[in-house]
Amino acid sequence: MVLAELGGRITAALQSMTNATVIDEAVLKECLNEIASALLQADVNVKFVKEMRDNIKKVVNFDDLAAGHNKRRIIQQSVLSELVRMLDPGKPAYQLKKGKPNVVMFVGLQGSGKTTTCTKYSYYYQRKGFKPAMVCADTFRAGAFDQLKQNATKAKIPFYGSYTETDPVKIAQEGVERFKAEGCDLIIVDTSGRHKQEAALFEEMKAVEDVVNPDLVIFVMDSSIGQAAFAQAKAFKDTSNVGAVVVTKMDGHAKGGGALSAVAATKSPVIFMGTGEHMDELEVFEAKSFVSRLLG
Ligand code: GDP
Repeated sequence: MVLAELGGRITAALQSMTNATVIDEAVLKECLNEIASALLQADVNVKFVKEMRDNIKKVVNFDDLAAGHNKRRIIQQSVLSELVRMLDPGKPAYQLKKGKPNVVMFVGLQGSGKTTTCTKYSYYYQRKGFKPAMVCADTFRAGAFDQLKQNATKAKIPFYGSYTETDPVKIAQEGVERFKAEGCDLIIVDTSGRHKQEAALFEEMKAVEDVVNPDLVIFVMDSSIGQAAFAQAKAFKDTSNVGAVVVTKMDGHAKGGGALSAVAATKSPVIFMGTGEHMDELEVFEAKSFVSRLLG
């Protein structure tokens, strides 16, 4: 189910309640059933769907609600705020500071859109007056350095990497040191991915993190991965000090659930979403407007 469809189903469920003559527990139950089924189909974790239902039921207490209260509005508002709550971990991501070398490390599975997102992120902050630079610490995938080099050249962003050095830790350290010396204030470290969460990937990621000591670790996740989102995001969070999430490929057959699960698993906010292959196809993610847009 694509994202727009999820929004459509939730809106329809709320609408059907609006059409009912009397809103009683049975009507609310039916409405919540429909919303829960839409969320599950959009790959929102089962546990959160249950939590959401329980919370809404608590807010909408038919015994306590005095006559004359607008139950419809209360229910609609609580659905909206529950969705926003799911997307809001309660603390903002690290904010880049001007005048110091901010080191930002990107982690994620191969194919998630990590390298593309590194460039988009650099380009975004370059336009905001930062002086970014990119380090390719991915020695696992053949062609990774060439891809980063190509992207960086297009965006006119300095880059560092090696065709011969096989130790990603060494490259990361050298690259970060060089760009610090050159006065860059945003140093992006792109790390290796693997096809799945595996021990070698996490060992390497940890070793790179230890040596570059990043101000922020960004977990990049393909929005179309389905129910695997929670486990995947949690595996990265357990190894690395993930502080923010970027969900990619929201222009495709994206399911909103992945973003919700990633936030819950990493206790970190989604800061951007990727909406295409081009450098400028990166949108600032804001939970309230995302949910409002979702619900039309
Ligand atoms: P990495 O292996 O994680 O570094 O992934 P890449 O950055 O190489 O991206 C894998 C593929 O996904 C490439 O073909 C990218 O062009 C594409 N891609 C990345 N982000 C997006 C996005 O937001 N939307 C779309 N449609 N494609 C994307």
